[in-house]
Amino acid sequence: METKIVEIKKDNLNKEVLNEAGRILRSGGLVAFPTETVYGLGGDALNPESARKIYEAKGRPSDNPLIVHICETQALEALAEDIPEPARLLAERFWPGPLTMILKKTRRVPEETTGGLDTVAVRMPSDPIALELIRQAGGFVAAPSANRSGRPSPTCAKYVIEDMNGRIEMILAGEDSTIGLESTIIDLTSSVPMILRPGFITGEMLENLLGRVETDPNVLGKEGKEPPKAPGMRYRHYAPRGELIIVQGSPQKVIGQINELAAESLSQGKKTGIICAEETLSAYRADSIKSLGRRQEEETIARQLFRILREFDEEGTEVIFSEGFSEAGIGQAIMNRLLKAAGHRVIQV
Ligand code: AMP
Ligand code: MG
Repeated sequence: METKIVEIKKDNLNKEVLNEAGRILRSGGLVAFPTETVYGLGGDALNPESARKIYEAKGRPSDNPLIVHICETQALEALAEDIPEPARLLAERFWPGPLTMILKKTRRVPEETTGGLDTVAVRMPSDPIALELIRQAGGFVAAPSANRSGRPSPTCAKYVIEDMNGRIEMILAGEDSTIGLESTIIDLTSSVPMILRPGFITGEMLENLLGRVETDPNVLGKEGKEPPKAPGMRYRHYAPRGELIIVQGSPQKVIGQINELAAESLSQGKKTGIICAEETLSAYRADSIKSLGRRQEEETIARQLFRILREFDEEGTEVIFSEGFSEAGIGQAIMNRLLKAAGHRVIQV
């Protein structure tokens, strides 16, 4: 399939292009588009055939449900039943924005979109391109991240093109994602709301609005006995091609341990990389050393993580050692993605 790749800018929306993209979606085709979290791979959420095409283009197991994107809160009524009060509060407070809610689905939502579940995941993004595209498409766009299954989510157009060129009808090549991590997912079908995937909207922000909120123990991989509530969490995710190992502990010990491991890997002739904070960048020796940002600047770290994992792939890095990062605030989402990318290989020093 020939993929039409069109450049697009947030502050100068090309309505003609968005109209064409909307028509593709309404006729059952797929369009990748920018959002503030990561790039999405969109299809008509109410068309089972579109959902099947999304799974195929991504190479994603079809029991891994999709998030339905809307452009006005009103659209929730068509997708969800028995909408509880907390959902209305959350929508008012955090939409448009990086928050996905799990609710009981209506019959209008096909099971192909929800991976066979009787619940539906819904989000209203804030990116103006995404919002206008959803409007042009008729209001309901199912969109997982626009990467091939298992790879780091794309936060810039270049990586969407790398993964999706030739597999879908159109790519809207916009600017880099401003947040860089996927949305926070909160399940509102249980008696106490439960965070299934941490993100830019933190547990504390949600608790401030709702009172008690629980977090799925799988979020930081501490449990493992109970299967995760969010089905996609079972699969290997976000992973670079090389082997990734996280080293955690006191800063001096971490530096020593990573340098020791890197030296050993280099001596075996392996292309070796290191992920660290800006503050410790000059302490390391390896083929490729990348800083995610200053430790205090969590938002920068979040925005850069997936891009940096992809850059190691481009360089052909075979082994990567990463410092650990704080789990406070957005840090929980950062460490959740980093741990998954590493397949939970952690060395504690
Ligand atoms: P992605 O679109 O790639 O960010 O992934 C969407 C993720 O949302 C899935 O992998 C699931 O973990 C989660 N999700 C979507 N729908 C549901 C649902 N109905 N119940 C629980 N989790 C869901
Ligand atoms: Mg994804």
